[in-house]
Amino acid sequence: MLARARTCAHYSVGARRRPKYRVLESSMAIPRSLGELRRVAGASGPRHPSVREEVRSNLIRKLRAGDPLFPGVIGYEETVIPQLVNALLSRHNFILLGLRGQAKSRILRGLVHLLDESIAIVPGCELHDDPLQPLCAACRARVAREGDDMPIAWLSRDDRYVEKLATPDVTIADILGDVDPIKAARGGLELGNELTMHYGLLPRANRGIFAVNELPDLAGKIQVGLFNILQEGDVQIKGYPVRLRLDVLMAFTANPEDYTARGKIITPLKDRIGSEIRTHYPTTRHQAMAITTQEAWTTRPAAEDEAVRLPQYIREVVEEIAFQARAERRIDKRSGVSQRLPITCLENAASNAERRSLLNREYPAVAGVIDVYAALPSITGKFEMEYEGELRGADAVARDLIRAAVANVFIGHFENTDTRGVVEWFDAGGSLQIDENGTAEAFLADAARVPGLLDLTRQTGLEPKAPPTSRASAVGFILEGLYATKKISRSDERGYHAAETAAPRRPARVTEPSFDDMPPVPGGAKKKYYN
Ligand SMILES: [Zn+2]
Repeated sequence: MLARARTCAHYSVGARRRPKYRVLESSMAIPRSLGELRRVAGASGPRHPSVREEVRSNLIRKLRAGDPLFPGVIGYEETVIPQLVNALLSRHNFILLGLRGQAKSRILRGLVHLLDESIAIVPGCELHDDPLQPLCAACRARVAREGDDMPIAWLSRDDRYVEKLATPDVTIADILGDVDPIKAARGGLELGNELTMHYGLLPRANRGIFAVNELPDLAGKIQVGLFNILQEGDVQIKGYPVRLRLDVLMAFTANPEDYTARGKIITPLKDRIGSEIRTHYPTTRHQAMAITTQEAWTTRPAAEDEAVRLPQYIREVVEEIAFQARAERRIDKRSGVSQRLPITCLENAASNAERRSLLNREYPAVAGVIDVYAALPSITGKFEMEYEGELRGADAVARDLIRAAVANVFIGHFENTDTRGVVEWFDAGGSLQIDENGTAEAFLADAARVPGLLDLTRQTGLEPKAPPTSRASAVGFILEGLYATKKISRSDERGYHAAETAAPRRPARVTEPSFDDMPPVPGGAKKKYYN
């Protein structure tokens, strides 16, 4: 504990664990009484920096050292992060504008790491008063009474972050506070007396970060309250002016359309928010896959040969579904398509592979396109539809998205590969049945009838000695790819068979040139990404 302690201008000390308030018993380096704190602070007691100054100086230290600023936030290195850093260096309160599932909350929670590890507070004070300059009447009285002997406590940075989701039923009492008549009666106090106040979330966030998600959903009256604090540091509770110079870094999030809609945000509040920062969905499939890999629960406890495997092309297909959905005209653009879609879809596809594997006693479980279709329940709730989509139904729209995603990924892997031999076999009248719960062995035996089909699996990066479940997944991907690009057909009765329509369907998105920084495709040619 002492080894990590540091005495510095911010009176902060080494990492401290819960309980939240802890009066340190004995320590040489860490002040435990007001007198000791005063000695560390110097004779006159240099003013503790404001939260925004504290964040700024810690940020500068990290920038100098080249430390990661927001670990786990992927794809914002050149867009959101620089703007956010500028906002924090400017000591701004700021708002993140973005659609759902764009890591806004993760960024806000990441601000905690820019706070000092802990700060000195008056024990028990709801406002986390600085013992050297208490705000509230109770603490001021206590300092006067106890002087240098007053114990002090240390508050860790995790306890200095307060987050609230704005909903229409959030009240002023929730955010700012209320007059507590019982407290008043007990203390024999006037109702307007500061000591009768019951503080809301914002005063309790004093000396920390106060984050409000979906700011436009907050009632106008509360927005005025927030504005007063940003402007004057002045909290008005139930008409009683209580002047509290709160020290808070305020951060907000909003859907861009709500935020810019006239009348949803009171203009003076908007004017006081220093920086407006736009978030966005991952711009490349590569970044998106990195996020999904980080967030999805796919590394599951299992015996080694039973662990579920997710081939690269399946990860790509799952990711591509989200890209297709965001470009899909039948899906509502204003609410967006969260990154949670590919995350839950990948988890569900892995589970379906696990389930089949357990039923058939075939290991390892390897996910295939069939499992992505089985993951429909994790897809359909993740977007809201336009009228045309409503007519078609969420299931059908989701199936269309999967098919378009498979087409795009398949083209990326097989663009320069000759698949004519396989297509001709189907054109000559051949067909392959589909058994969703069948064994890989049976499927492969059936697929072996198609000349050249098994050889094509090498193009997916399949290793020569791959287990049957891996090979079956690769064959399934090829067949689904040929179906998605309309080279063959698929139906419940006949399985895969010759194409019924001639013109190949183009994927919804425009293609883009390949990236040089893409992960290499094992065993395959350099692959193009279509974002
Ligand atoms: Zn206090």
